[in-house]
Amino acid sequence: MNTASTAHADGRPIPAPDADSRPYWEAANRGEFRFQRCTACGQPQFYARALCRHCHGRDLTWEKAAGGGTIVSFTQVSRAPSEAFARRGPYVIALIDLDEGVRFLCNVIDSPLEAVRIGARIRLVFETREGSGQKIPQATLDRGS
Ligand SMILES: [Zn+2]
Repeated sequence: MNTASTAHADGRPIPAPDADSRPYWEAANRGEFRFQRCTACGQPQFYARALCRHCHGRDLTWEKAAGGGTIVSFTQVSRAPSEAFARRGPYVIALIDLDEGVRFLCNVIDSPLEAVRIGARIRLVFETREGSGQKIPQATLDRGS
């Protein structure tokens, strides 16, 4: 997945989709988290790649995550790397295991900082990045658990 990006109005980066990641970002704009699954070995993978990271198979399909997951690790950022992020701080960056078996990194938003813990259940939410309209998958604590 291409991590190249450009800055926009609020100073935070905007994703720059490439051939591998475009389906992911287009799905995010529909409010869906999509990940790849290899038809040869059956393994899920995230982020998007041209080949399966397990068996190097080339036949990858896209699946939609249901939206539930668990926090594996997290950190609270109190000293942001730039002014754009400082306006949002302090904030949480978390490593999330989605129920489908893929892991990704995101912010935990709209949640009390003191309630974020390893093992907490989350649900996916989609935050619209100002200036581009691109939606970014993020997590919020699942208060139903
Ligand atoms: Zn495979």
